[in-house]
Amino acid sequence: MDGKTVVHNYGHGGAGITLSWGTAHLAALEVQKTGQREVAVVGSGAVGLAAARLLVERGFRVSMYTRDLPPNTTSNIAGGQWFPFTVYDVDHLTPTFEEQFSDATEFSYKRYQTMVGDYYGVRWLPNFQMADTPLPTNGLMSRTGPLFRMLPQFEELVPSRHPFPFRYARRFDTMFIQPPIYLDAMLRELRISGVPIQVREFREARELLALPEPVIVNCTGLGAKGLFGDDELIPIKGQLTILLPEEEVTYATMAPELYMFPRRDGIVLGGTHERGVWDLSPDSDEEARILKQHSDIFRRMGTRPAKPAGA
Ligand SMILES: Cc1cc2nc3c(=O)[nH]c(=O)nc-3n(C[C@H](O)[C@H](O)[C@H](O)COP(=O)(O)OP(=O)(O)OC[C@H]3O[C@@H](n4cnc5c(N)ncnc54)[C@H](O)[C@@H]3O)c2cc1C
Repeated sequence: MDGKTVVHNYGHGGAGITLSWGTAHLAALEVQKTGQREVAVVGSGAVGLAAARLLVERGFRVSMYTRDLPPNTTSNIAGGQWFPFTVYDVDHLTPTFEEQFSDATEFSYKRYQTMVGDYYGVRWLPNFQMADTPLPTNGLMSRTGPLFRMLPQFEELVPSRHPFPFRYARRFDTMFIQPPIYLDAMLRELRISGVPIQVREFREARELLALPEPVIVNCTGLGAKGLFGDDELIPIKGQLTILLPEEEVTYATMAPELYMFPRRDGIVLGGTHERGVWDLSPDSDEEARILKQHSDIFRRMGTRPAKPAGA
């Protein structure tokens, strides 16, 4: 753009937290190709924070510009499961994209492992996926695919080995990132590194040209739609219901149209996924559905004798 290089790093679907380190790595490789050392990162959600941090670690002089800081980003209201879910349309998958996706996933997976602990709010937990129809064994869940070895403790559970009121169940372990803790810590680390952070909204792409940095990494998430006129970018609305925290719940569950993630700041119940919906107002019918269906699962679990393996 008029002598500046813009590296786009947005459009992470339901996995912006999961993939943030990996796409930061891909973005940093693009920045490196320019031969420039001064970089503007626009946006301070999970994606912008990881990009800025990685660029600092690689010796670039980074400045951050953002409309909203945590806690006012979409990243703050994510569930926080490490799982590259809803990232691409299968119909549009190309080998190049698949390779990038795989590289980004693996890079992120390794990076988050170095962040496990209370400081960043990252921990490993068993996940139990369940359904009355056979669980998928293709795509992300393919035993020969690249993700499979990033899901340790993977096991199909026969009904006598699990307490869930579903015919099929499986276990695998993943990391959980608690966004309020994690994003705060990431922002703190950037400030400690001396990265200047300017709160500022860009209304159109041309406004970016006035920035002093010759390279711009665009991490504006859904904001990129208006900023760069990307018509392919669409919102997906997800709604969460948060219950009081319960320390003794040490596993996550995923049933059709439902998920439960236990976090220190509350038990997160979700399961909505509305493509093309911008409206942020809570839907009380969905809240009632999510509460009732979860309540049914856990009440019926209570009447089953077995305990989930590893829970
Ligand atoms: C209910 C729900 C559950 C989810 N669960 C998970 C999960 O379990 N795991 C997972 O990995 N992902 C999950 N996600 C997806 C995840 O939240 C997103 O992929 C992620 O937050 C995207 O991060 P981001 O940094 O790109 O965008 P954002 O967090 O939206 O940050 C964008 C940044 O850009 C700034 N910005 C935007 N426009 C402009 C502008 N014009 N000028 C200046 N600054 C601008 C914003 O102020 C903000 O700082 C979930 C999402 C939802 C809604």
